[in-house]
Amino acid sequence: MIEYQLSTRAPFSTSSLPSLEYEKVSSQSCDTKLHAALEGDSEHFVGTRSMTILRKMEQVKILRVKCKKYAVLTVTSVLLLLVVVYTSFHISNNINIQSPYVPRRTDVNVLTTWLAPVIWEGTYDYEILNEQFKKGNHSIGLIIFAIKKYTRFLKDFLATAELYFMQGHRVHYYIFTDRPQDIPNIALKENRFLHVIRSKPYKRWQDILFQRMKNIETQTAKQFYKEVDYLVSTDIDMKFNDHVGVEVLGNLAATIHLGFYGKHRTIFSYERRQISEAYIPWNEGDFYYSSAFYAGTVKEIYLLAKVCAEGIEKDKKKGIEAIWHEESHFNKYLLYHKPTKVLSPEYTWDNNFGTPSYLKKKRFIAVPKNHNEIRN
Ligand code: UDP
Ligand code: MN
Repeated sequence: MIEYQLSTRAPFSTSSLPSLEYEKVSSQSCDTKLHAALEGDSEHFVGTRSMTILRKMEQVKILRVKCKKYAVLTVTSVLLLLVVVYTSFHISNNINIQSPYVPRRTDVNVLTTWLAPVIWEGTYDYEILNEQFKKGNHSIGLIIFAIKKYTRFLKDFLATAELYFMQGHRVHYYIFTDRPQDIPNIALKENRFLHVIRSKPYKRWQDILFQRMKNIETQTAKQFYKEVDYLVSTDIDMKFNDHVGVEVLGNLAATIHLGFYGKHRTIFSYERRQISEAYIPWNEGDFYYSSAFYAGTVKEIYLLAKVCAEGIEKDKKKGIEAIWHEESHFNKYLLYHKPTKVLSPEYTWDNNFGTPSYLKKKRFIAVPKNHNEIRN
């Protein structure tokens, strides 16, 4: 018979149980007693009181094991919760998998009244757009004019376009110039091609600007339509500073002029003389668009250039020049042929205008120049 050593000197309370001089009894002997007692072995049965102690001790033991389990469970749950909170925070900050019900931007207008999206950083998932676009196996033409002294901008323009413009797509650069010898020798990436188109060095800089429309119209009908699906036309006194991709492509896309963003139509510098083909009444107009960056399908760009060139020609016959040259005719055209995408000023920025809080990216920026020096 195993001697039961538990002293009853200790006061009886559940809380004192674990320290009840229990150390004197080996856990093995205690287990054996308990087991025996539970099995109904009378030889090990020491008495009702001792049995109660044993049961309580066993309960404490079970409780401790349970507590350990609960502790492990609690710690695991807390860790899991932290992971879930972190992940959802991360997801909510990641546009790629953001809920389609959450508005993308609330600090800027993202939709025109004719339901064309306004393209701002943070309003679209580029991966989706790019994958969709790739299915069409489309080519994009980038039209630029580098006449007379403006060839000086070519090097930076092309180098930055190689970094940021339509990465991963087939691109044709169409350079209208009177100085082909000035075109820098830049190594183009795969699937990117450069075409030189001879253009007249008009004496007056105004004529160079006006003639852009006629040149685009003619060359689209002659060459561009065979080689590309989309056309993008930009100024050359600019450089790419961040990603510019297929988000700008659609039937017709025009950029809001940074100087007139958020302004009322009455201060837009539209042509206000009724005699001009570019005339826009004071009570009309959506945005003042910049002609330094626009895009569209070959067909839409052809139509735009053709109508503008016709307006310019008619004005010329009347002996009038629109206030902002081809840009005035461009704005007139867009008033009655609404763009299907409106590009935010991210696509034609000038650092002289600082960095307003709504501007998250400066994708295409003006290179400073001295108008008098370069145009004469
Ligand atoms: N341009 C040109 N040579 C000139 C004047 C103008 O090639 O002598 C082209 C060039 O592509 C330029 C565009 O016409 O970017 C518009 O002119 P500019 O950039 O001077 O106009 P701004 O941006 O100052 O209104
Ligand atoms: Mn310019």
